[in-house]
Amino acid sequence: MTKSFRTLDDVNVHGKRVLLRVDLNVPMEEGRVSDATRIERVLPTINEIADKGGKVILLAHFGRPKGAPNEEDSLRLVASALEDMLKRPVAFASDCIGAPAAQAVAAMKDGDVLLLENTRFHKGEEKNDAGFVEELAKNGDIFVNDAFSAAHRAHASTEGLAHKLPAFAGRSMQAELEALNKALGAPQHPVMAVVGGAKISTKLDLLGNLVAKVEYLVIGGGMANTFLAAQGKAVGKSLCEKNLLDTARAIMDKAKTAGCEIVLPEDVTVAQKFEAHATAHFVAVDHVGADDMILDVGPKAVAHVESLLAKTRTLVWNGPFGAFETPPFDEGTSAVAQTAARLTREGKLLSVAGGGDTVSALNQAGAAADFTYVSTAGGAFLEWLEGKELPGVKALEK
Ligand code: AMP
Repeated sequence: MTKSFRTLDDVNVHGKRVLLRVDLNVPMEEGRVSDATRIERVLPTINEIADKGGKVILLAHFGRPKGAPNEEDSLRLVASALEDMLKRPVAFASDCIGAPAAQAVAAMKDGDVLLLENTRFHKGEEKNDAGFVEELAKNGDIFVNDAFSAAHRAHASTEGLAHKLPAFAGRSMQAELEALNKALGAPQHPVMAVVGGAKISTKLDLLGNLVAKVEYLVIGGGMANTFLAAQGKAVGKSLCEKNLLDTARAIMDKAKTAGCEIVLPEDVTVAQKFEAHATAHFVAVDHVGADDMILDVGPKAVAHVESLLAKTRTLVWNGPFGAFETPPFDEGTSAVAQTAARLTREGKLLSVAGGGDTVSALNQAGAAADFTYVSTAGGAFLEWLEGKELPGVKALEK
C-alpha cells in the first residue's frame, strides 16, 4: 500500500498516443448526465496530457452490457457532456478496437481528445483476454490509468494494458492513492475508523483489517445493533443479524488483543415506525423497547465520538450512523460529519471518507467539501479499506 507508483511525472507524453483509462460511468437521467462528479475528476489529467501535446485516447466502460454492444450503454452521450466540461472538442469512435478506433486515432493531431466506445461491448474486457488487450494496445504508445474506482477489477483496460504498454497513474488516481496512503498506509496516530451502514455481513473483511490498524473503531448504523445484541442487549425490532452474534464477539476479542477500542453507541434514536418525521426519541442502549427500531445513534453517542475525534489525527469513514436518507435519522451522521469537517478545516485532522452512501450522507450534511479527501470509488475504496491489493494499482507500481 505504501509502495510508490509511476505517474505522469515519469513520462514525456509529447507526440505520444496515450491510452487513458477513465471512469465515465456517470448516472444518466433521460439521456442527460445527472451527476458529473466522475467526469470532473478526470478533467485535470486529460487537460495536462493534451496541453503537453499528447494524443488523449479515452478508454472507459459504461453500465453492464455483458460483452455485446447496445445503444443504451453507448458512451456517445457522455462524449458531449465531456466536451462541454472540457471546453475542447472530443471525437468519438464507434468501437474501442478494430477499424473505427484505428481510423479515429490515425486522424488525431497532438493535443486532440478522442473517446472510444464502451470497452465492455467486448467480452475480452472483463475476461482480461490477451487478444483483446493486444487489440487495445495497437492504438497506444503508453497507458495511463486514472480510474481508481475500477482498479479492484483485473480487466483488459484496467490491468491487462498496464502489462502491455509502459503504464502510469493519472492525476486523479495519484491523488486518490496519496490520500489513502496518508489515511491508512502511513497515517499519523491516533487513527479513528468510523464504520456504519446497514449490515456487518458485507463489512466483515473491513472490520477485520481495521481492528489491526486503528486506535478507535467506531461502529454505527444497523451494524451497531448486531454488536449490541452480541453484548446481550435487547434491540427490539431493529435491523440485527442474529446469525452473526458470534462473529461480532470474535471481532470484539480481536480488537481487544490488538489494542483497538471498539466504540458502540451508549444511546440511540428509536421510533416505532420507519418513515420520514416519525415520532422518535432517545433512549440508553439498555432501554430499547420490544417494539422499538433503532434508526440512528443518540446525542450522548455523538458527544462521545466527538470527544474522541478531538484526540484523533486521522479519520477514515465508511457508512452512515443511521438511516440518514429519512429525517430525523440523519442527525447523528450530520453532527459527527460536521465536527470532522471543522477539525479538518482547523488543520487538526486528516479526514478521508468513501463509499456511495457515505458520500451522499456527507454531502447532505454539507461536510464533504471540508474533508481532506472524499473517494467516489465504491467497491475499490472498500477493497482498499479491507487491506486488499487492487490489481489495477499493483500494475502501476515502480
Ligand atoms: P451500507 O451500504 O452498508 O453503507 O449501508 C447504508 C445504509 O444503511 C443506508 O441506506 C442507511 O439508511 C442504512 N442504515 C443505517 N443505519 C441503519 C439502521 N439503524 N437501521 C436501518 N438501516 C440503517
